[in-house]
Amino acid sequence: MTPARAVVALGANLGDTRAALDEAVRELRALPLTSKVVCSTPIASVAVTLDGPDPSKPGYLNAVALVETRLAPSILLEALHAIEERHGRVRRERWGDRTLDLDLIAYGDVTSDDPRLTLPHPRAHERDFVLAPWAEVDPDAILPGRGRVARLRDELAAGAS
Ligand code: AMP
Repeated sequence: MTPARAVVALGANLGDTRAALDEAVRELRALPLTSKVVCSTPIASVAVTLDGPDPSKPGYLNAVALVETRLAPSILLEALHAIEERHGRVRRERWGDRTLDLDLIAYGDVTSDDPRLTLPHPRAHERDFVLAPWAEVDPDAILPGRGRVARLRDELAAGAS
């Protein structure tokens, strides 16, 4: 099996966010059957809740990591959840504060409607904090079904201004 290119979004808004992202990248590098982990520069973003952006909440630090992996998508997601749990993520509230949130944004060009693992991630195309760092680490990246990540980022920025 040739390795797949997977895209992982990292976010943290509680505690030492920079340390949490650095540690998560180290844990991604330590995963079995996984290599070439490349992480973007972390960026700061406003917390997004079910009601929209909420500047009264602690801000997020976000990054995107590219990984080459032979782990199946569902196994990779389980591994991401295990990393989150080790960081004591607070799971009481959906979209609540978290010490570490890891989302699987894309896995090659695999598409899936399974609610346990939807691929590509259904909200990736509308999240600047995913698109901008992804385009930084892979300027030619394509979000399956949506097109070039750099274009999506630019369109989102134009719509927001
Ligand atoms: P959240 O609390 O927003 O991180 O959502 C976690 C839930 O979303 C888990 O139950 C996952 O199984 C599910 N999920 C579905 N698709 C994805 C994805 N592409 N990446 C991460 N979690 C996903």
